[in-house]
Amino acid sequence: MSIKELIEVSQRYGSDPECVLAGGGNTSWKTKDTLFVKASGTALATIQETGFVELDLETVRAILRQDFPADSAAREAQVLSALMAARKKGQTMRPSVETILHALFPYAYVVHLHPALVNGVLCSVDAEKTIGELFGDQVLYVPYTTPGYVLSKTLSDSFETWTAHGKSFPSIVFLQNHGIFVAADSVQEIDKIYSMVFDRIRSRIGRTPDFSATESPVLEQSVNALFDKAAELKDALVKAACRYVESPCIEFETNKEILKHAASASDFATLNGAFSPDHIVYAGARPLYIPHTILDAIQEGAKADTVQAALAKQIGSFIEQEGTYPHVIVVQDVGAFGLAKNTKAAQLALMLFNDAIKVSVYSMSFGGPHFMAAADVDFIKKWEVEQYRSTVSA
Ligand SMILES: [Zn+2]
Repeated sequence: MSIKELIEVSQRYGSDPECVLAGGGNTSWKTKDTLFVKASGTALATIQETGFVELDLETVRAILRQDFPADSAAREAQVLSALMAARKKGQTMRPSVETILHALFPYAYVVHLHPALVNGVLCSVDAEKTIGELFGDQVLYVPYTTPGYVLSKTLSDSFETWTAHGKSFPSIVFLQNHGIFVAADSVQEIDKIYSMVFDRIRSRIGRTPDFSATESPVLEQSVNALFDKAAELKDALVKAACRYVESPCIEFETNKEILKHAASASDFATLNGAFSPDHIVYAGARPLYIPHTILDAIQEGAKADTVQAALAKQIGSFIEQEGTYPHVIVVQDVGAFGLAKNTKAAQLALMLFNDAIKVSVYSMSFGGPHFMAAADVDFIKKWEVEQYRSTVSA
C-alpha cells in the first residue's frame, strides 16, 4: 500500500472517459492517521503526488461532530475552513469537497466516480429498485442529497444505522443522480468491485448509444452540408450571444445520437433537465433547444440581422428562466453548440452534454430519465465550491 498505488489507480480510472470527465471523480488513500485526497478541480488522468492533499484523518472525521449554522452558504463556508484547517502542515491545495465522505470509509482506498453507465441507473425512474435487484442488500443506496456537508452527514448516519444492524461496512455506495463510491483495502479489490458493478449493469442495458458520424437521416444531406449550415448558424450564434456573454466562444458537434435527440421537441425531452451536479457545473442546468425554423429562415435567405435577432431572443428568454446563459444550444436537425467564455469550457460543455445523452439512453432500460429537482439544481448553481471547481478545470 502506498501513494504510488493511489496515483496509478487514479490515473487509470481518470483516463477512461467512460469513468471520468473533466475534473469529475476523486480518489483517496489513508494510513492509520493520514488521509491523502484529490485536490479540488484536479484532473485524475494526469494526477501526480502533488495533486493530493494530505490531511489529518481524525480531524477530518471530527468535523461532523461540530455544530454549523443552518444557513447553507454560511455552513458550507465554515465546513470548508474546517477542512482547510485539517490539512497537514505545508499543504496549500484545497481538498475535494467530498473529502469527509472519503474519511468515513474504514478502508485504505476509495475511488469515487460518476460513470455514465452507473448514472444510467442512478438517474433513472427505477434507480432504487434496480440497485436492489442487481446488488441485493450488501450495498448502500442513498437518495439524492445536497453534496458537501449534508451528504457527508447523511452518509455518516446511514453508516451508523448499517453497522448497528451488525452488517459489515459497505464497500459500495450508490448516490442517486450523482455517482458511486467504491472502497477497499487494495487496488485489486477496487478493480474487482468496479468490474462486477459494470458487468451487472451492462447485462441489463437494452440500447447502447451510438455516437458515430452521420449522413443526417433527417436532412438527407452529407455531413459536410450539415457542417456548412452549422458554420452559418455558429456565426449567427456568436453574434447573438455577444449581447449576453463577453467575447463568447462557440464549439460545434454533431453525431447520430445528438441528431436523434434533436429530431423534435419531444425527442429532446429526455435531455431537458439536469442529471447530476457534474452536468450542471460543466454543461449548465439544461440545454436550450431551438427548432429548425431558424434553418428554414437561413435557407430562405433571411438577413443575417434577422437570424441573429431571433437567436438572441431565444437566448434572452432562456436567461430570464435560468438566470444564466445556456452552455449547450441544440438546434433541431443540426447538432449541438457549446457556448462559454473560452474554447476549453465550450468543449467541456459538449463533452458533458454527450455524457448526459449516454446517461439518458442507458436510463431508458430502467424506466426512463429522472432529473434532479429544481431546488437541488438551484443549490448547485449557487454553490461556491462548484464554481471554484469549474474555474479550475477551465
Ligand atoms: Zn461526486
